[in-house]
Amino acid sequence: MSLRLDTKLSRLKGVGEVLERELERMELVTVADLLDYFPRRYDDFTQLAPIAQLRPGLVSVRARVEHIDVRRSFKRRSMAITEAIVTDATGSLKLTWFNSPFIVSQLKQGEEYLFTGELAYKGNVFGVTQPQFERPDSAERAGHIVAVYPETVKISSKLLRQLIAQVIDCVDLLKDPLPEAIRTAEGLVSLSRAVRTLHQPDSMAAIAEARRRMEFAELFTHLVTSRVVQKAIETEPGIEIPFNEGLAKEFVASLPYALTNAQRKVSWQIFEDMQRGTPMSRLLEGDVGSGKTLVAAFATLMAIRAGYQVAVMVPTVVLATQHLRSFSEILQTWGVRVELIASALKAAERRELEARIEAGEVDVVIGTQALLTRGVSFASLGLVVVDEQHRFGVNQRLHLKDKAGRLPHVLTMTATPIPRTLALVAFGDLDISILDEMPPGRVPIQTKLCRDADRAQVYVAIDERIRRGEQVYIVCPSIDAADRSGMRAATAEMRRLSNSVFKHRRIGLMHGKLKSDEKESVMADFVAGRLDILVSTTVIEVGVHVDQATVMLVESAERFGLATLHQLRGRVGRSDIASDCYLFVTGDEAAGRRRVSALEKTRDGFRLAEIDLASRGAGERFGLRQSGAADFRFASLHDAQMVARAKESATSFLEAEDLVKYPCLLEVVNRLKAVTSLD
Ligand code: ADP
Ligand code: MG
Repeated sequence: MSLRLDTKLSRLKGVGEVLERELERMELVTVADLLDYFPRRYDDFTQLAPIAQLRPGLVSVRARVEHIDVRRSFKRRSMAITEAIVTDATGSLKLTWFNSPFIVSQLKQGEEYLFTGELAYKGNVFGVTQPQFERPDSAERAGHIVAVYPETVKISSKLLRQLIAQVIDCVDLLKDPLPEAIRTAEGLVSLSRAVRTLHQPDSMAAIAEARRRMEFAELFTHLVTSRVVQKAIETEPGIEIPFNEGLAKEFVASLPYALTNAQRKVSWQIFEDMQRGTPMSRLLEGDVGSGKTLVAAFATLMAIRAGYQVAVMVPTVVLATQHLRSFSEILQTWGVRVELIASALKAAERRELEARIEAGEVDVVIGTQALLTRGVSFASLGLVVVDEQHRFGVNQRLHLKDKAGRLPHVLTMTATPIPRTLALVAFGDLDISILDEMPPGRVPIQTKLCRDADRAQVYVAIDERIRRGEQVYIVCPSIDAADRSGMRAATAEMRRLSNSVFKHRRIGLMHGKLKSDEKESVMADFVAGRLDILVSTTVIEVGVHVDQATVMLVESAERFGLATLHQLRGRVGRSDIASDCYLFVTGDEAAGRRRVSALEKTRDGFRLAEIDLASRGAGERFGLRQSGAADFRFASLHDAQMVARAKESATSFLEAEDLVKYPCLLEVVNRLKAVTSLD
């Protein structure tokens, strides 16, 4: 039987109907699927050594279980500790596993196994913690590197290895999307070679080489896709918004403060973009409070005076209301007509507003993305400001063409500091501007890590602030139903506080499940000072600011990413009153405390994001899923040099070559593009 990449796995030896269905459940249907199913880790049994000769570091031994036992930890009763003593002819070794009591039933006393793990000195004893083990029954393992796959109850790694062995020669049929010339220039192995190695490695060094190739190819194809998307936008007809120097001078002079240097530089970058006839795609990154809104308002004024309308898209109604205020305030002396399009509008009001937008009687329309992209048509849309949203799909953008078929400029703003490498990858199709300077005169916020024992004292300090007319945010990780770990929930916390320590204070509740008019009225009450305390989930996370708010208290802070905590902290310290940020850490999980304590030490959002990236991985917090980067299986994005090289290769490749001549690459690009452009 000759196998092809699209051959069904049911044709393989040993795959009956039951197994076929199990494989299907893992999305393994064809030979190609199976080849694309990569090992989770490798156990290296090439360096089997007698116990007496072991050195600290990664080791593999073949040894007999002399004794095995489970006990409870003295310190933490809930933790099971499994300990085994194993021996070979030369000596003995202590093995320890945490929270894996089932191991006792897997390792039989008196039998031999292959163990691998990190050997270290503990006290005076050589030991290995959390070792992996395999039965040495098949000669398959001893002396080899064994690929361990993500398994299910029904489909073991061993079975997967057998199936892969049947199809491994099909790697030669795989088409490599990475252009030969680039592959050679980077000194990378071919796709066939890499896939073969990943399944049936000869050495750990070969695995590293294969991974490097896969990583580079992922970055390269992703960056080529970004560039293709970017080009597609650039070739659309755009709008020329000339730089009006007189207007710029007047605007700057009208402000109660001077622009920061960063604001001046970034505004100029935006004006340069808008002057050109190609649509702008720019990301403005700036820490909370760095003054992004002002920059956006400046660009807005420039567009309006050139005869265009501006749409401001925000993720939440709360933020829309806030922007209505800031834009109106900043632009009030310029006779700019700002309107909010909210779902709370009655049908008739809505129709009336839409008619005015279509007639060009409204200059700035603020609303959530859903409202602005559904049905509203503009007389002459020149600029779209997207605030605090990571992604604005290419398809959505193409919907916003004006009647002459021109695309508006788009300025995306985010306060989530994104590490440079990540930004290059996740926002490869955007030009990036950074506001790396804070407006002067801010009083730094005091950040304190707290335990339950500090609670009474913190509440006294808070009450004193309220007495002086200041306001307080209390943020909880969930809305209701406190889970077993004692995580505090906003609803319950609100009730508890109103019935006890803060009985005499006015407390409001805010969370994502409130109706939008309820949210608006709660927020309006807080802004107007009719509430002393706002108990909330992270819906207040982005954008919102209230000058009198001087305390941010976060419950179960270890539940949040550092970037989120940093954002929350940015909700206070908006005026010249010194502010406090209290971060309560539940339980005594040392790692959580250590991570959160980074906030005590630094106020640099970029630094915090780097720490977050290093400790928690890229994940979805950076909007990677929407950007299609969720496809990354090999690239860690930690390797700044590789990201830079891939970017460089992608750009110069597209300048010199016609993508159509590279069908394998084109196919991948089209698939990635579909993910990137999702609405
Ligand atoms: P961001 O949206 O970046 O978090 P904002 O645009 O809300 O920040 O600005 C935060 C505050 O700083 C606002 O109250 C704004 O009026 C003020 N601000 C902006 N630019 C300056 C500046 N150059 N000097 C002083 N204050 C400024
Ligand atoms: Mg903002």
